[in-house]
Amino acid sequence: MENTIVIFKTNKDFQKELQDLADYILSKENLLAIKVKIKFVKQGRANINSRKITIPIWAIDRGLHFLCYYLLHEISHFICFDKNLDYGHHFRFKDTERRLLNEVGIIPIYKKAYIKQLNGLNNKCLYNEKKYLKEEVGL
Ligand SMILES: [Zn+2]
Repeated sequence: MENTIVIFKTNKDFQKELQDLADYILSKENLLAIKVKIKFVKQGRANINSRKITIPIWAIDRGLHFLCYYLLHEISHFICFDKNLDYGHHFRFKDTERRLLNEVGIIPIYKKAYIKQLNGLNNKCLYNEKKYLKEEVGL
């Protein structure tokens, strides 16, 4: 897995791209598969029992790096649960999430549980929440 550009081949069928990435990671981690759905919801979630991940459709608007982060965040919950590491957003969770993000060429910069910025391996900013909300949403 070199980088997100390689992962997101079509830039069209996001659900399939996310599913492919989830399948790749889960098989690499030797864990059971997860079903990924993009839905019109306010917030995404990881349902540990049904092994389903919901990604909100608004995440697409924030760009591929953010979308990728969102998926890897939810996948990290499954990895931590399956491996009995962490049930919240504590340091083992963040270690897992950071490891997955690094694999796709992303360095996360945190603000509490979630990220405020995503950088590339060259430390160039790929996504900044404040900048996005100001320039794209007008907040
Ligand atoms: Zn979470």
